[in-house]
Formats: sequence, structure tokens, C-alpha cells
Amino acid sequence: MSGKSWLRLIFRWHLGSTQLDMFNLVLATRNAHKMEELRVLLGDDFKVQTLDDFPSAPAFPETAGSFVGNVTLKVLTLTQWIGTSLESVDAEQYVVADDSGLEVDALDGAPGIHSARYASLDENNSSDADNNTKLLRELESVPAEKRAARFVCQIALTKIVSRGDTPEAHLFEGVCEGHIAEAARGEQGFGYDPLFIPGGYEQTFGELGAEIKNELSHRAKALAKMVERLSSTAM
Ligand code: IMP
Repeated sequence: MSGKSWLRLIFRWHLGSTQLDMFNLVLATRNAHKMEELRVLLGDDFKVQTLDDFPSAPAFPETAGSFVGNVTLKVLTLTQWIGTSLESVDAEQYVVADDSGLEVDALDGAPGIHSARYASLDENNSSDADNNTKLLRELESVPAEKRAARFVCQIALTKIVSRGDTPEAHLFEGVCEGHIAEAARGEQGFGYDPLFIPGGYEQTFGELGAEIKNELSHRAKALAKMVERLSSTAM
């Protein structure tokens, strides 16, 4: 079953098919690849907006030192900004933020929260190619059996509240265990996908492609938990 159908099944289980489009989600990411993955995973069942619909939204600080801290800062910053900029707030309007990265055991968890800027000499993001080159270099002398790694994703969900009210962040974690290949393989996906071999497979996410990645990935797992919570509990 594709990641998309899996999420839809959870959602329908709780809600029934008639109410699927009642939730309006603003995806708080400027990473086009993540946005596309989130959109595919959520399917057509939600009303989805992105930051393209809020061009003057503030930049998100990533200064907290952990995935949880960063994603909480991101989601609260945007939720408060939207809350004060909207004339009125719909009942079921939410912001969804994602902070994610790769943790490699042989590197004591690096690149971790620095995944997007691993090869950078300053605070700006570095290219995927440069990050992958650096990771391979750092692991040059590390044998296959010691190249264990995982993708981690923290998703934060907040209900948009009216001006003056305080939003609450709900957190959902997804982890995908695997290991790092000896060389980049495959053209699909983004970031470290050409180097990451998920547990139980021999190909990288770059070779496996979106359909399989969306069944296994850290982002799919975190999003499934979020959808389950959204559909089962009043928030
Ligand atoms: P963020 O935008 O600060 O959360 O940085 C996430 C970074 O982690 C990305 O730029 C990628 O380098 C890496 N990353 C996160 N998720 C994935 C994934 O699904 N595939 C490959 N790399 C990922």
C-alpha cells in the first residue's frame, strides 16, 4: 500500500469519508522537496496551503539546538503570525511544521540538526551534493557494518488561534533506521537520499523512489501519527 493510501486509511477509520476536507493545513516549510513529499502523503483529502500563500511570513529561527526545539519554534512563530494577520480564524485551521535530519552513529549523531548546512562554513545551507561528499569523506575509513544511521523527523502541529490566544504545539516523531552506502546511488529524492539505505533493503532511497520511500520514511511515520491524532481528538 502506498504511503498516501496508508494515511487515508487511518484518517477514514476515525472520521468517515465525508469529512476529509474539513481540515485546513498550512505547511510551514520552504524546502520544496519536503513540501512535495508532505503534499503527496496527505493526498487530496485535506485543504493544504503552503508558505507560497503567505509570502510575507517571517523566517523561522533554527536556534534551539534540537529537532523538537527547532520545530516548536518554527510552528509557534508561524502560528502566531498567521493568527494576528487573519481577520477571522476558521475552526479547523492548523499549521504543520517539520524539522528533520540524518543521524550517523559513527559520527556521534552528526550531521543531526545541522543536516541542511553540514558542508557549510557559515549558517547558510550547503548543497545536497556538498553535504553528501562531506559525509562520504567523514566515513571513508568506516566499514559497512559500522555505518548505521537514521533519518529523524519531528512534526509539530498547532491549531491557529485568534489574536491574543496562545497556540499549543503537538509533537509527532518518525524515525527510519538504515545505513550509509559507500557511494551515492540513484537520482530520486533529495538531500541524503542517494546515500541512505533503509533497513531491509539494499538500494538507497535515491534508487527506491518516492512510492517506497513514502511507506518507510521518517516523515511518513511522523505524519501518520499526526493524522491519527488530528482525526481522533478534539484539539
Ligand atoms: P531542515 O529543513 O532544517 O529540517 O533540514 C533538513 C535536512 O535534512 C535536509 O536539507 C536534508 O539534508 C536532510 N533530510 C531531511 N529529510 C530528508 C529526507 O527525507 N531525505 C534526505 N535528506 C533529508
